Amino acid sequence: MEKKRRGRYDQGTGEGTAEAAAALGVRVVRDADGATLSSYRGGGRIARMYVPDTPQLFAALYAAAVGSGEQPFLLGGGSNTLIDDGTVNRPVIWTRGMRKVRAEDDGRVYAECGATLREVSAVAARKTMGGLEFLAGVPATVGGALAMNAGAFGTEIADYVSEICVLNPVSGEMRWIDRDDVSFGHRMGVRGAVAAARFVLPCVTATESAERRAYFLSERRRRQPAAPSLGSVFTGEAGAAGIYADAAGLKGVRAGGAEISPVHANFIVNLGGGTASEFRFLARLVRDTVRDFYGVNLTAEVALLSDGGTLLGD
Ligand SMILES: Cc1cc2nc3c(=O)[nH]c(=O)nc-3n(C[C@H](O)[C@H](O)[C@H](O)COP(=O)(O)OP(=O)(O)OC[C@H]3O[C@@H](n4cnc5c(N)ncnc54)[C@H](O)[C@@H]3O)c2cc1C
Repeated sequence: MEKKRRGRYDQGTGEGTAEAAAALGVRVVRDADGATLSSYRGGGRIARMYVPDTPQLFAALYAAAVGSGEQPFLLGGGSNTLIDDGTVNRPVIWTRGMRKVRAEDDGRVYAECGATLREVSAVAARKTMGGLEFLAGVPATVGGALAMNAGAFGTEIADYVSEICVLNPVSGEMRWIDRDDVSFGHRMGVRGAVAAARFVLPCVTATESAERRAYFLSERRRRQPAAPSLGSVFTGEAGAAGIYADAAGLKGVRAGGAEISPVHANFIVNLGGGTASEFRFLARLVRDTVRDFYGVNLTAEVALLSDGGTLLGD
């Protein structure tokens, strides 16, 4: 009988990562449902998703995968990641197995990369610390937020991180670096894999924190759509992408189950059954229309998890 061919992605077959995970005893989820892993709630399936439960295992798996010529995709909360339609064969390391958070004796908060910002805030609150309320409602993990330098209302996660534990992709060594050694910029954060971080958070009373949280959440509800999305599709660097898309009359344009949100034109929402290719079609439409009408080049903020290519197909 003919042996079943394994799917390929543009860096190989994923066998190197699979062998390393088996040797290390890392849990693997086969045929994972991308719609449950991305906040767009659409997209395809992931052939093999690895779930290390400690930073040490993450480091060893990551280095072994890179050493075998493969490039695993690091998936956190999936709130900025579009998962391609069909089956993605690129190996995926899902960081949600690593979610320890603790307040340390020196007053800082340690968090593993897969902890959500909500989980970090909950531990901080027990020690009357706060500060991350500006990201309330953003379903990010520590690793994803530091990779993207998540920010809102004029504040960024970079303002609160003091040290970041990064992985050496060759040796698998974990190394703490100072936040000042990272060139943070607009939606530009840590390059490479983040295993954990330490935060310095201000003292706030529970009442102050709850008030700030409620304020930022209500502002979000007022300005952003409630339907499943990946947040802003384009970065704000070129000006307000949503304003250009709105002025070009793109609000409410649909492709299948995906729609350029009538609430905020820099959001593409899933009205039900929206696919990755519909999302990408609308993203390209916005990019091309804004370029042709206004001469403004937009940069995609959303990451694409696929076997090759980019979100906008260039
Ligand atoms: C409703 C909604 C509102 C949003 N509002 C905002 C907002 O106000 N401001 C904002 O900045 N963003 C916003 N976003 C986008 C998103 O939440 C952020 O970009 C967030 O930081 C992504 O975190 P994540 O864990 O979900 O990352 P993922 O989507 O899992 O990954 C995003 C990128 O980070 C990389 N990554 C993930 N984990 C690691 C790791 N451990 N080490 C290195 N790289 C890693 C991935 O490979 C990918 O390239 C919003 C999204 C939604 C759905």
